[in-house]
Amino acid sequence: MKVIVTGGAGFIGSNLIRHIINNTEASVINIDKLTYASNLNSLKDISKNSRYKFKKACITDKKAIQDIIFEEKPDAIMNLAAESHVDRSIDNPNIFLETNILGTYNLLDCWLQYYKVASKDSNKRFIFHHISTDEVYGDLESNDPPFTELSRYDPSSPYSASKASSDHLVRSWSRTFGLPILLTNCSNNYGPYHFPEKLIPHTIISALELQNIPIFGDGSQRRDWLFVEDHADALWTVLKEGKINETYNIGGGYEMTNLNVVEKICTYLDKAKPIVSKEFKSYHELISFVDDRPGHDFRYAINYSKIKDELGWAPKKTFNDGLGLTIEWYLNNEAWWREILDSHYEL
Ligand code: NAD
Repeated sequence: MKVIVTGGAGFIGSNLIRHIINNTEASVINIDKLTYASNLNSLKDISKNSRYKFKKACITDKKAIQDIIFEEKPDAIMNLAAESHVDRSIDNPNIFLETNILGTYNLLDCWLQYYKVASKDSNKRFIFHHISTDEVYGDLESNDPPFTELSRYDPSSPYSASKASSDHLVRSWSRTFGLPILLTNCSNNYGPYHFPEKLIPHTIISALELQNIPIFGDGSQRRDWLFVEDHADALWTVLKEGKINETYNIGGGYEMTNLNVVEKICTYLDKAKPIVSKEFKSYHELISFVDDRPGHDFRYAINYSKIKDELGWAPKKTFNDGLGLTIEWYLNNEAWWREILDSHYEL
């Protein structure tokens, strides 16, 4: 099997490619524009594998995408390329609309042209698998039941609105043009190779650098957390076993406040790497509360019983185990994040 993964130099994409190369016989073509969020160092361990290939291209570029698809003749495409940071979408929505909406449109259009030709003499599925977020459903009150695949779309930020738009496009390409699609909506991921702007790596690295650990508002926002390798496993399960044109919600079943997550990291680091400073005795002292993000969603929670019941997938890592592995990874891979801090990102 040959699969195109877009956005494969990003956080989830690189973990997904590693999962495919290490656990399956499939070949992967990684298409990535290499934005600030990408890092080819995240794929160093598998980049020489004969089943892996990298192509630098923007998903909005029709000719480039068509050329790659028609040359490579893949069996499926998994679309993870996106602008993914909510704060950046508030500062500069434009690129979110270009990549997340127009980029997805371009991929759909190119894949449909290919599908029409390729499916004539083949009984392969030629799936367009679109990777999306639980943020398309908006947020929940404290006692609301978790999101299901039938929850109403109600996005709050330019990021989630652009992802919601792309989800609608994908479903419409299935309904109108008969393109075989799969859609997955996942909760917050965490794990190795996560760009330092996101909550968990930002907290770990800020602590290690003895910098303030900012928390929006009072930190009471609640999120469901999933270890990224469990997400990669879920995505591959859905691609292989998912029922065509269906949506599957993916979650970790670990709902926690942002403050709770940050405190767990500080407590872990206090033991694993006791603070060496005249000013501070514990990493907890670095926590500082900052003005809340506009339109900040209060709570996300995911009901993943459909993928569990129909495809037999469930997360393997508990939050505590996954968080421990993640913190240890950042402790042992300083060169990976130091290069980002030195070249193009300030905490
Ligand atoms: P990321 O920001 O770490 O990586 C995105 C990758 O896409 C980068 O390598 C970037 O260079 C690439 N990219 C961006 N614009 C591109 C373009 N125009 N053409 C080609 N490549 C481009 O994101 P992530 O956290 O790995 O998320 C991947 C996908 O999963 C996104 O679609 C996101 O919406 C979704 N998702 C993320 C989470 C999460 O917690 N991180 C949760 C659910 C869903």
